[in-house]
Amino acid sequence: MAELTFFTGPMNCGKSTLALQIDYTEASAGRRGVRFTCQDRAGQSTISSRIGLAEAALEAHPHLDFWDFVTAGLTSGRRIDYLICDEAQFYEPAQIDQLARIVDDLGVDVYCFGILHDFRTEMFPGSARLVELSDRIEWLQARPRCWCGAPATHNARTVGGVMVTEGSQVVVGDTAPGAEVAYEVLCRKHHRRRETAWVGGMDLTPEPLPFDEGDV
Ligand SMILES: [Zn+2]
Repeated sequence: MAELTFFTGPMNCGKSTLALQIDYTEASAGRRGVRFTCQDRAGQSTISSRIGLAEAALEAHPHLDFWDFVTAGLTSGRRIDYLICDEAQFYEPAQIDQLARIVDDLGVDVYCFGILHDFRTEMFPGSARLVELSDRIEWLQARPRCWCGAPATHNARTVGGVMVTEGSQVVVGDTAPGAEVAYEVLCRKHHRRRETAWVGGMDLTPEPLPFDEGDV
């Protein structure tokens, strides 16, 4: 039975690495797949992982019809057993519907990888549609940590080093130090308080200890 699977987690949890690993494992078993990405940090048409792996991919631009692409390929005699769909948060909801139809009607496995919500903590439309339609949602086990040590669950955007909570949903930046528009993963508390590693390190808002004076 073919499945639509959504692998998700915050930035820096190894989604693109897993995308390339699954592609490699499937190809090793003699299966034929097609890789897609959308606005990868390395530039168009590459799935790149932060630990150094990279493979060419097709760009899933907003007007790409996955159903038309796959049916045209199969009609022309091309074998397609699975799709690898990285950066799926950027896909149009209609494209996610096309992927579900490809699973159901063509028996092609579709592996999607993407973050769930944006720097404002709102879900990307493509990710929301994946949550609605996927057969399986897998949370990646390699969890990055907030600067405080807690598991990081939220993505913060910084501009010139300062965390922002307004702006357009899609601005491609990186978690590499020094970028003008950058992303940092935080726990929910520090995301809510807008305390990035830079602010946290400055110790501007020390937390009161959870004791009242009567206990001391
Ligand atoms: Zn934290």
